[in-house]
Amino acid sequence: MRYSLLSLISNALSHHEKWQPAWREPDPRPEYDVVIVGGGGHGLSTAYYLAKEHGITNVAVLEKSWLGSGNVGRNTTIIRSNYMLPGNEPFYEWSMKLWEGLEKDFNFNAMVSQRGVLNLYHTDPQRDAFARRGNAMCIHGVDGELLDREEVRNMVPFLDFDNARFPIRGAILQRRGGTVRHDAVAWGYARGADSRGVDIIQNCEVKGIRIEAGRVKGVETSRGFIKCRKLGLAAAGNSSEVARMAGMKLPLESHVLQAFVSEGIKPFIDQVVTFGAGHFYVSQSDKGGLVFGGDLDGYNSYARRGNLPMVEHVVEAGVAMIPGISRLRLLRSWGGIMDMSMDGSPIIDKTPIEGLYLNCGWCYGGFKATPASGWCFAHTIARDELHRFNSAYRLDRFRRGYMIDEKGQGATPNLH
Ligand SMILES: Cc1cc2nc3c(=O)[nH]c(=O)nc-3n(C[C@H](O)[C@H](O)[C@H](O)COP(=O)(O)OP(=O)(O)OC[C@H]3O[C@@H](n4cnc5c(N)ncnc54)[C@H](O)[C@@H]3O)c2cc1C
Repeated sequence: MRYSLLSLISNALSHHEKWQPAWREPDPRPEYDVVIVGGGGHGLSTAYYLAKEHGITNVAVLEKSWLGSGNVGRNTTIIRSNYMLPGNEPFYEWSMKLWEGLEKDFNFNAMVSQRGVLNLYHTDPQRDAFARRGNAMCIHGVDGELLDREEVRNMVPFLDFDNARFPIRGAILQRRGGTVRHDAVAWGYARGADSRGVDIIQNCEVKGIRIEAGRVKGVETSRGFIKCRKLGLAAAGNSSEVARMAGMKLPLESHVLQAFVSEGIKPFIDQVVTFGAGHFYVSQSDKGGLVFGGDLDGYNSYARRGNLPMVEHVVEAGVAMIPGISRLRLLRSWGGIMDMSMDGSPIIDKTPIEGLYLNCGWCYGGFKATPASGWCFAHTIARDELHRFNSAYRLDRFRRGYMIDEKGQGATPNLH
C-alpha cells in the first residue's frame, strides 16, 4: 500500500485498525542470490537499491536483533556533505542528493529537515582552514558559506559571544545540511525493500561464513545454514567480528560513542551547531529535547554504554558554547559501537574472497552516508565493480598508502 492522504483518510475512517505491517516477517529460505549481514541503515539501503536499481530481489537481510537496534537508531541524526577531500566529497554530496529525494522515493516520512549545519570557528587559523574546506566544497558544486561573527550572532544569538573562554569569530554554514529522523530511515528502507520482494529477517545472527575454494557458499546462522551466491557485510560496529568469520583482519577498531537528549524546552535552536573549540554538536528535536554528542569515550569496547567522565566532558563543552543550558536536565544518554578506520574514512569494496563484499569503517559519520553507501554497495555487489563514488573506498588503500584522512590525524582511529 502506498502511503498518501487518501490512505490516511480511509484508515482514519476504519479507526486505524486496518493498517498493514510495514514489512513481512518471513522465515529464512534455504538459498538467496544475495545475503546482507546487518539490518542497520546501510544493510537495508543496500537491499533497497539492489532491488530498485538492479532488479535483484532474491535477497535476504539478516539482523541479529531488531531493525534499528544498532547505530542507525542511536545517532544524533545529523546529515551534511561539507567534506574537503576528493575521495569523500563526491560521495557525501551524492548522499545529500539522495536524502533530498528520499521520502518521495521510498514513500515514507523520514522527517528530512535541511535546517543548516553551522561549524563555529574561534581562531584565525581555524577560519583559514574552514575557508579552505568551503572553497573545496564550492569547487565540487556543494553549497558552503563562510560567516563572520555578526552573521552568526544574527542566526544563533544565545551562543556565548562576549565572555567566552573561546570567543566565536564566525562559522562555516552548509544550508542544505540538517537532520533526519534516524529510525524512520531504517523503517522506510525496510518497507521499500520488502515491498520489492526482499526478505528482512530479524533475530537471525550470523555465526559463521562458509567458504570453499576461495568462494563464499553461505552463512551459518542462529536459524540454520543459508546458502548464497554473494554475501555483503554491513555490520558497522561488529564488522571486525563478522569479517573474522571469513578469516579477514580489518584495519578497524571498535569504540563507544555516546549521545544525549535533554528534557523538552521551547524551540530555540533552529540549526545544527557544532563547537569549534571542543567536540560538541547540538540540534533540537521536534519534541523540544536538545540532542547532542561529543567525542568517543577513548577506549576500545563492544559495550553500548559510556562512562561518566565523557558525560562531564561533553556537557562542559556544551555549557561553554551555550551557557543558558546549564540548568537543563539531561533526560537520557546511550552509546553505540563505532567501526573506526585508520584514516577516518569508510570501506566499500570487494574482498579477495570471491562473492564477499565489505561495507564498514563508518566511524561516527555513517548516518549521513546511509543512502549513498547503500547505493554504491548495491552497485558493487550487483556489477562486481566499484562505482565512481566509492572508487576511493578500497580496502587495500591502507597497504598502498592512499589514505583519505579528512582530519589529518594519521593512523589513530580514536582521534578521527
Ligand atoms: C551516539 C552516536 C551518534 C552518531 N551521530 C551521527 C550523526 O549525527 N551523523 C552521522 O552521520 N553519523 C552518526 N553516527 C554514526 C552512524 O550512526 C553510523 O556510522 C551508522 O549508523 C552505521 O551504519 P548502520 O546504520 O548500518 O549501523 P547499525 O545500525 O549498527 O547496523 C549494523 C547492524 O548489524 C547487526 N549485526 C552485527 N553483527 C551481526 C551478526 N553477526 N549477524 C547479524 N546481524 C549483525 C547489528 O545488530 C546492527 O543492527 C553516530 C553514531 C552514534 C553511536
